[in-house]
Amino acid sequence: MENTPVLSADASWIEIDEWAIQIRRQIHRQPEIGLETPHTQSVIEAALEGLGIVHSRPITHGVVGHLGPREGPAILLRADMDGLPINEETGLDFASEYPGRMHACGHDAHTAMLLGAARYLKEHQNQLKRPVVLMFQPGEEGPGGALPMIEAGVLKDPEVTEAVMVHVDSDLPVGVIGLKSGPAMASPNAFTIVVKGQGGHGAHPDKGVDAIVTAAAIIQACQTLVSREQDPVVPLVVTFGTISGGYRENVLADRVTMSGTIRILDPAQQKTFLQRFQDLIHHTAQAYRAHVEVTVNPGYPALVADVTFTTKVGKRLNSVLGANQVRWLTAPSMGAEDFAYIAQRVPATSLKVGVVGSGSQSGIHSPNFILNEGAIGVGARALAAIALDSGS
Ligand SMILES: [Zn+2]
Ligand SMILES: [Zn+2]
Repeated sequence: MENTPVLSADASWIEIDEWAIQIRRQIHRQPEIGLETPHTQSVIEAALEGLGIVHSRPITHGVVGHLGPREGPAILLRADMDGLPINEETGLDFASEYPGRMHACGHDAHTAMLLGAARYLKEHQNQLKRPVVLMFQPGEEGPGGALPMIEAGVLKDPEVTEAVMVHVDSDLPVGVIGLKSGPAMASPNAFTIVVKGQGGHGAHPDKGVDAIVTAAAIIQACQTLVSREQDPVVPLVVTFGTISGGYRENVLADRVTMSGTIRILDPAQQKTFLQRFQDLIHHTAQAYRAHVEVTVNPGYPALVADVTFTTKVGKRLNSVLGANQVRWLTAPSMGAEDFAYIAQRVPATSLKVGVVGSGSQSGIHSPNFILNEGAIGVGARALAAIALDSGS
């Protein structure tokens, strides 16, 4: 065998895996939302404290730990901490104790993977050739914790020159890590449209301006932005998620409110597309004699994985995990990820850790989502392996 997965087979993992799974379950029981993650933070800090790893709070509920030499180009490993406002229906022994909150996106597992890697790296710290920054961030599902942590200096002192994140993947089997080079995840842009017409009797449409017909024309026109104006091989999504307006069957609606999301993969399109979207809506409304207000809130940037760095990570994982455990993904995801702010600043990539195996069910963001906990050890080994690489 050409590949000798030495790191993977190290006996110290036996205890680490069990320890990380217990931490994951502890976090799973008490999911927290957004930037308010004090309990999760205390679990992480207690674990780092127990390992003798120096740590700090760059933002109220974020945690950063430091390992290895203090000087030199650092590698940052990132896990997110927050859950979702979903009512858990898994029936697990360690299911959420809070109604309406659940770790349905696997962030509990990400934190456990990073702590598992941290413990392994602490035990092998004499082998660390470069500083390692352990980043635990809240708010990934919104409003975003990565950017405030960057602004608080997480990429400085030591200077971070490469970064890796982990995310569970409910399309990949446990034991497999997926890598995607280049455009990997989309930028989500929320919009609200208010169409203002002029009310009147439904029997006399000529006496008013129908906001419903105008809204329908706007929805149709916006679909042609994707089907007629977008390069067919570059993904782009325009979804209208809500629409409301009108009073009763014989009244012309004077007002319709709609909202939705635009997912953009190519960062170069961000500004131009959002402008074109708004122009088209304004012109359509004008053509129908209505007024319109459009608000677009650009979300996280698109996540672009650095090609050279991702290739290097792939080679490293092949050598420590075994070649058939790394899978190169061809398709990007139109989901979003605030790690993109880090990838804008330093070469970065995302490890998609397969969680499908015995006991697993449903996909992420489902109230029935269960992951195979074997994935926690796989993610921890991968993070540790990357941190132990020389960085050259
Ligand atoms: Zn999510
Ligand atoms: Zn997530």
